[in-house]
Amino acid sequence: MVVVMHPGADEAQIEQVIEFLNDDGFGVHRTTGVSQSVLCAVGVKRDFDVRRVKVLDGVADVYRVTEPYKFASRTWKQENTTFEVDGVTVGGNEVLVIAGPCSVESEEQMEQTAAHIAAHGATFLRGGAFKPRTSPYSFQGLGEDGLKYQRAAADRHGLRVITEVMEIGQIDLIGKYTDVFQVGARNMQNFNLLKELGRSEIPVFLKRGPSSTIDEWLMAAEYVMSQGNPHLILCERGIRTFETYTRNTLDLSAVPVVKKKSHLPIFVDPSHGTGIRGKVLPMARAAVAAGADGLMVEVHPDPPSALSDGPQSLYFEQFDALMQQIRLIANALDRTIRVPAEAAA
Ligand code: PEP
Ligand code: MN
Repeated sequence: MVVVMHPGADEAQIEQVIEFLNDDGFGVHRTTGVSQSVLCAVGVKRDFDVRRVKVLDGVADVYRVTEPYKFASRTWKQENTTFEVDGVTVGGNEVLVIAGPCSVESEEQMEQTAAHIAAHGATFLRGGAFKPRTSPYSFQGLGEDGLKYQRAAADRHGLRVITEVMEIGQIDLIGKYTDVFQVGARNMQNFNLLKELGRSEIPVFLKRGPSSTIDEWLMAAEYVMSQGNPHLILCERGIRTFETYTRNTLDLSAVPVVKKKSHLPIFVDPSHGTGIRGKVLPMARAAVAAGADGLMVEVHPDPPSALSDGPQSLYFEQFDALMQQIRLIANALDRTIRVPAEAAA
């Protein structure tokens, strides 16, 4: 059950509701937002009459939510979540494209990539400065220098920055440069990191763990939201199955499933989802057709020389074809993908 307090509710009223719920056997988790407090009451009580809470002083609304995740659930919030990131609306009618290399490698690489993707309708520049690599001997990222190159290139071309945060100790540093924190697949259940990001004002892009069920993924989202950060984007990036042809199996059925279970925006990453450059375009088309709110794709000025994920990184011409084709599909579904100013002129 989720209890939303009136914006004007005072501390005594909030305490009284918490006590009432505790007395009835509920565990209560309190989130204090900018204007109002929300109480998440956890406990299974099939016959509980929510009107008993609705009538308490200071209570604005009560929602019965049977899923284990409350704030992430569509039962609690029926309308889609939308929010702005520097003038761009996430989760709205526009399908957003995040593009860029797997890793930030140099100033020039970020400049070339940013110039190209911005000219073709992307709104976010991706790139890892801290990389979660399977091998400790692989390139681990440029660290703060990488963040600087990415921020500067994004700013020169009107793009927003998204980059991965791997541990709590990096939050402050990365927060100085990024518009969105990416939580990688390997960290989806790093609960301490999720809780700390939940206390941030910066939106979080939560990738699905390679072996996680959709419910586990939504529970991970709940960790962030229960700490007060409502600005979350889910990203399907492929799961591990018995199939070995592709790097992962891109679970596109997760898109309609998540749309039904949650109000959160969902993006799809066909680059990590397939691991093969030639499979990215068809799966990007399919993702938009399935109802994704955005895509994350890896693009590199010279994929064969990429320090990570070269085989799945698109050449610039492939990225252009992708943008053109997904725009047609989005339009067929009454959604938009932005046409950059020069192209529109
Ligand atoms: C990435 O986006 O480069 C990345 C490492 O993704 P994932 O966490 O999905 O493997
Ligand atoms: Mn990558």
